[in-house]
Amino acid sequence: MLKPDAQFKRITDISIEFLQKHNIEGLILDLDNTLIDYDGNLLDGVKEWIKKVKDAQIKIAIATNSINTEKVEGYAKTLGLVFVHKSFKPIKRGVKKAAKKLNLPPNRIAEIGDQLFTDVWVAKRMNMFSILTEPISTDRFKIDIIKRRLEKWVLSR
Ligand SMILES: [Mg+2]
Repeated sequence: MLKPDAQFKRITDISIEFLQKHNIEGLILDLDNTLIDYDGNLLDGVKEWIKKVKDAQIKIAIATNSINTEKVEGYAKTLGLVFVHKSFKPIKRGVKKAAKKLNLPPNRIAEIGDQLFTDVWVAKRMNMFSILTEPISTDRFKIDIIKRRLEKWVLSR
């Protein structure tokens, strides 16, 4: 049920050829930990990747569960993408809205994100192609935990 159709480390690892091979004409992208990291930094190379995708006539929208209008609008503008925020994935409504913006049927759309229970699940429910990426900030979280433990240990001495 929750098995993604494909998995990549970073969204920028997904090639145009791969998308075309699967008859994908539009992408619906998650924002947090897919396009930007924990601190809000854009993933390296993401602007160039988006340009390549657009040049291949593949349309792109953002669908995020974020409720921060200003933040989402800012990134959408920077990346030149249409967006839906407050998507409440895995509920279908927001992603449906994004699909409408792309003006494509679900079977021509890939939903891409870092979470099984939001991104992959909503894709399954919508009958879209699902691509799971690794959360950008996982490494960073792990480092933070190690750092914090180390700090605690040092402070305890
Ligand atoms: Mg995410």
